[in-house]
Amino acid sequence: MKSIKDIDLKNKKIFLRVDYNVPLKKGKILDDSRIKASLETINYLLNYPDTIFIASHLGRPQGKKNAEFSLSPIADHLAKLLNREVKFLDDCVGEKILKAKREAKVGEIYLLENLRFYEEEEKNDLNFAQELANEIDVYVNDAFSACHRAHASIVGITQFIKEKGAGFQLLKEVENLRRVFEQPQKPVVLIIGGAKISDKLGVIKNLLPKVDKVLLGGGVVFTIFKALNYEIGKSLYEETFLKEGAALAKEEKIVLPFDVLIASEISENAHYYNTPVTEMRKDYYGVDIGKETIAHYVKIISEAKTIIFCGPLGIFEIEPFACGTREIIKAIALATEKGAFSLAGGGDTVSAINKFNLADKFSFLSMAGGATLEFLEGKELPGLKALL
Ligand code: AMP
Repeated sequence: MKSIKDIDLKNKKIFLRVDYNVPLKKGKILDDSRIKASLETINYLLNYPDTIFIASHLGRPQGKKNAEFSLSPIADHLAKLLNREVKFLDDCVGEKILKAKREAKVGEIYLLENLRFYEEEEKNDLNFAQELANEIDVYVNDAFSACHRAHASIVGITQFIKEKGAGFQLLKEVENLRRVFEQPQKPVVLIIGGAKISDKLGVIKNLLPKVDKVLLGGGVVFTIFKALNYEIGKSLYEETFLKEGAALAKEEKIVLPFDVLIASEISENAHYYNTPVTEMRKDYYGVDIGKETIAHYVKIISEAKTIIFCGPLGIFEIEPFACGTREIIKAIALATEKGAFSLAGGGDTVSAINKFNLADKFSFLSMAGGATLEFLEGKELPGLKALL
């Protein structure tokens, strides 16, 4: 895969695919980390005299124009961050856009309107992809988080532009995720939490031969306990994954909690207490890993040299149920300080780390959800293949 550093960018018209799918409320950006993550690539491109057309999706407008999902507020914010003008184009294809591309001058930055205003984007329609590619000399993909999708601006477009390469954010994601597969320092510990076992099963199965231990928590464990015929009360579990759960329980490398926190309801006001996993109450929910389990997991993490963290260990959004997730994140931060390589990503993991203000203590935080999980599952990502 070429990096933008390997491409002659001088006087070129560049199509830069980013992921500006940021949370917005009434036109206000609630979290701009994805926009900030694109600045390194944009600033590098700006060093050349060239013209940049930035494109992204935002939300799920279902293939129709919808002001609620307009990228226009992002153009203003990006202009502030770059401290230079960003011209917003209120479409991404069509006559008007073609004219703008033809007339654009060197040194200018444009932000195109939401790609998903056209259903052709998600269908990887080649006519649409060709329209996106019109007048463009170089295609740059810096949207790792969209690379698991074969969409027109990720895959189709690459057929119509000869010169193509990866931006710095995408390269960083791939390089760090690859470290997990290429002779990681041992012991390697995988920590899996999150809501559903179905979302994480692929990652567990693919990484099991490569890691030394898999520490399980979150909703994931209750399907396993159900499969072992334990009382799990009202805890989340997936009926169709009981067989898979039972198979995991037999794996030597899998470490299951010995105790859990159970609660009368999913709320701050719940009555809750710690209990061995074999003594859960019928009318309670499993909401976090228990105290002894935390201590055991912390010890394993302290000895690890490579740590992969995918998914919170409890319902961390509710303070009384956040202890397991917080202590595990703290333990990973400490191990990293002592020289371990730590990587976190997929689903809600990064928001949990941000909540406890420990983001800068990790070796690498993946910004992607689905794409990170699919990479760790060992799947080929169409967007990366298209860049080769
Ligand atoms: P994911 O995006 O799959 O990593 O899932 C993250 C979500 O899993 C968070 O919102 C947590 O609240 C939730 N979660 C963690 N533990 C549990 C549990 N024991 N029961 C239900 N949900 C959980």
